[in-house]
Amino acid sequence: MIVKVLLATLLVTVSIGAALFLIAAISANVSRKRRRFSAQRENPVSGLPNFEALRSQPAFGSATVIAAKLVNFEDLAAFLPGEGSQQLVDQVARRLTLACHGTQLHHDLDGTFAWLVPYYQHSQIEGHLAGLAALFNAPLTIGELRVDVAIAFGVNDEFEGSNAQRLAAALVAAERAIRTRALWTKYSPRQKEDAGWQLSFHSQLEDALTSGDIWVAFQPQYDIRTHALVGVEALARWTHPTRGPIPPDEFIVQAEKSQDIYRLTLFVMDHAIRSATQLRERGLDIHMSVNLSATLLDHADLVGTIRVMLTAHHLPPEMLTIEITETAQIENSRQARQTLAQLRRAGIRLSIDDYGTGQSNLEYLTEIEADEIKIDKRFVMTMRDSQRNFEVVKSTIDLAHRLGAVAVAEGIEDAPTMALLEQLGCDVGQGYHLGKPQLFSELTATLAPTHHSRTA
Ligand code: C2E
Ligand code: CA
Ligand code: CA
Repeated sequence: MIVKVLLATLLVTVSIGAALFLIAAISANVSRKRRRFSAQRENPVSGLPNFEALRSQPAFGSATVIAAKLVNFEDLAAFLPGEGSQQLVDQVARRLTLACHGTQLHHDLDGTFAWLVPYYQHSQIEGHLAGLAALFNAPLTIGELRVDVAIAFGVNDEFEGSNAQRLAAALVAAERAIRTRALWTKYSPRQKEDAGWQLSFHSQLEDALTSGDIWVAFQPQYDIRTHALVGVEALARWTHPTRGPIPPDEFIVQAEKSQDIYRLTLFVMDHAIRSATQLRERGLDIHMSVNLSATLLDHADLVGTIRVMLTAHHLPPEMLTIEITETAQIENSRQARQTLAQLRRAGIRLSIDDYGTGQSNLEYLTEIEADEIKIDKRFVMTMRDSQRNFEVVKSTIDLAHRLGAVAVAEGIEDAPTMALLEQLGCDVGQGYHLGKPQLFSELTATLAPTHHSRTA
């Protein structure tokens, strides 16, 4: 009996012990899981709930989704020392929290934020966003540094779709705001189409390149003093069978996100070089300008490919001008500098495009020995109305000449602007007043033998 009772107690104790152990183990596991669960739903930098947390909320219903993107987040994060990006995020989050009016701010990767606006506050959204933008006009102070932060917003107020779809839509709208330099844009059915288009961009581009929907337009450039035709710029065009003409700014930005830009550039380059050869055969020794995305300067085989094309079509390299815009990429890339040097060594002319915009700056000039500086149309088109822009045009012409480069003005839309540029000593002009981008056949038709007698 005694043994039996002892055994029973022992068994009970043993099982209680095992149970307790089991409970302890389970709860440890649960809290570990919970911790992991919260780590999965929390941004480690800001400690704010992330987009996964937002998506897994009950359906957004009649709430509007707002997404905010820091336009220059990557640049800032790369530039700020030590704890800088943490402080940046904290300060941005603090400013955004002001706009959330009690609803939770969510923070995801790369400076993207989102929050919901309840139905009864919808009428105030526009005002809130304008207020927020004003708040971001003031620079942030990070340690010793003052940094400018640019922010854009996307709004989705369609009440259909899953939380994930609606958040994605707000993000697409924010991307669009960045692209179009708007403070905010609303997701629209047209963008729904765009999103689909973006997903199949690669195959659509391939189809368009083979079907002829993508083609090359040529815009003439004239010597401002003698009015002789001195060059043409090749510009990519995409006439989509259902969407109609797609602005190059739109499809080039999309192509630049992948290797598609290489394919597209080689297509334009090939057409441009072939066309230049045809013009030469007609006795027209004029420059052919082709735009090159700075991202392509990182392609080690770019120069070789262009040289092969030039040889194949028997075009002397000095007849080809390559126009480059974005600078940041070149400043940071050894390969890009090498490519530029190789292009020059090959005898190809280099042009700095969009000079005067944020994209092409003075520092660029010290990096590249450009043969040509193209004054951005933004300044040329307004130089008669704005004294400041007039001064920019004037001083850029002087600067080009001091550097031994040709000054080209683009965006000449009327005769008085042309006359003003002539007075300032600008060398070459391009613009709707002189000739629009056109089919090669249209261009050659206007050139017939007296091209040099064409007057502005
Ligand atoms: P961009 O290189 O600055 O080209 C000049 C733009 O100004 C062209 O716009 C042209 O149509 C437009 N333009 C010319 N004259 C006038 C004028 O008198 N008034 C006004 N308002 N505009 C004028 P487009 O063709 O829409 O091209 C836009 C941009 O797309 C180009 O700007 C260039 O950056 C890019 N792009 C076009 N084709 C290519 C290409 O083959 N490769 C690359 N990488 N970029 C390209
Ligand atoms: Ca250009
Ligand atoms: Ca330009």
